[in-house]
Amino acid sequence: MNIEIIGVWESQYEGLKKNRVTATLTPYYLAALLPSDVNVTVRDEQVRPVDYNIDVDLVAITFLISNAPHAYEIADRFHKRGTPVIMGGFHASFLPEEDLEHADAVVIGEAEDVFPEVIEDLKHGSLKRIYKSTKLHPLKGLPVPRYDLIEKDFILNHPVQATRGCPFKCKFCSVVSLYPGLRVRPIDEVIRDITCFEGRNYLQNKMVVFMDNNLIANKRYAKELFRKMLPLKKWWASQLSIDMAKDKELMRLAAKSGCVSVYIGIESFSQESLKNIGKHQNKVSDYKNAIKTFHEYGIYVQGSLIIGFDEDTLESISKIPNIIQELGIDIPYLHILTPFYGTELFDRLNREKRILTKDWSRYNFLNAVFRPKNMSVDELHSSHLEIWKEMHSVSKAFGRTFKNLPFPISRFSSFLWKFLDNGYFLSQNLMGKYPLVGESGKENICTTKSTEDVFTIGGLEKTLKSGFQKQL
Ligand code: SF4
Repeated sequence: MNIEIIGVWESQYEGLKKNRVTATLTPYYLAALLPSDVNVTVRDEQVRPVDYNIDVDLVAITFLISNAPHAYEIADRFHKRGTPVIMGGFHASFLPEEDLEHADAVVIGEAEDVFPEVIEDLKHGSLKRIYKSTKLHPLKGLPVPRYDLIEKDFILNHPVQATRGCPFKCKFCSVVSLYPGLRVRPIDEVIRDITCFEGRNYLQNKMVVFMDNNLIANKRYAKELFRKMLPLKKWWASQLSIDMAKDKELMRLAAKSGCVSVYIGIESFSQESLKNIGKHQNKVSDYKNAIKTFHEYGIYVQGSLIIGFDEDTLESISKIPNIIQELGIDIPYLHILTPFYGTELFDRLNREKRILTKDWSRYNFLNAVFRPKNMSVDELHSSHLEIWKEMHSVSKAFGRTFKNLPFPISRFSSFLWKFLDNGYFLSQNLMGKYPLVGESGKENICTTKSTEDVFTIGGLEKTLKSGFQKQL
């Protein structure tokens, strides 16, 4: 039996045809879940276009919510050729009925428990329409991802996951909507995934990218993991929360175990916005000291920022580029607030009749898919572009790159990443390769409400919205 797993991707920048920086984990992890008698291949659109001429028994498509329309195109083309298609991930879990218009089957929830059943049914020609995981997997005994299938084109191709979920409850976050709470993998199994990898060059062998939502959410676990990583002499990067800076032992162990950079959801410089969005762990007054602490340990800070909160005004968001410099954020990422389906934020904006479109391709952090409070949609779009250009101007990029020097010489790796990241975005800016703000899809006003079905995962009542498309 032959199965092709497709990781869907679409460019978010003008002229960017590939994204070779980091391989994602999901397709290679799904491949590892398949029995050994299945011949599996992976096609990652970040580096290679889909081949519609392949002869396989099943195409499995995994995609982000914003890639849903593109995933549908892919599914439809395989469908026309008579190849069965199964879809999974956040979108399929929240809107299975919509996905089933394009796929033969969908996986709702996590794949671990239901994938063996999918394969058995496929072997017997009796694929069901819906495979629903009814509990959260304990994450024990997971296989090593199929690293051997990762395209060699990636610069960094060693993704690892140690934890899944997050204990916080930010109202815009789809992670906590689908995977409530935090689960951790056995540390020995994480170390196994780190050590059993063979890259093709020094950097690939050296650098591990954790695909966790918040690697240090369980601090005791994180410390133990970092202790076990000490002898491995790796470099690593991860997304994690800013409260890490308060725990000096955690900072020391992270740095010693090879932490090069952290991606932190700073989100806003307005405490009111943070409060209203449920990001209580972020204290604006602590930002500067927290970032300074990361720098003292030689760790480079990537900061995610969001505009479009109800408290934002054109004047307040215009100050963002200067505040970034003052705080010492090493590389900023700017997003437009995006109310993903299934989140508290979506429900609120939907109740307030402010959701503007059901075109999921626009739910990509680059489009105002809701009516902002203190500015128009066009103003939010143009502000994003102006702020992005200023953030990545020559003076700001150089200012960030050579600020907070010298890192300890032993932390040269952190400086290297900071230099490369700032240089990359500066060159994009100078070449006019801007983010594709406000350009995907067409506006489609949504005026009706969604319905709610209730289902249970791991004893927790969760709400799965269905019939949304019909309602629209
Ligand atoms: S801290 Fe990050 S992962 Fe956790 S709930 Fe908030 S946005 Fe989601």
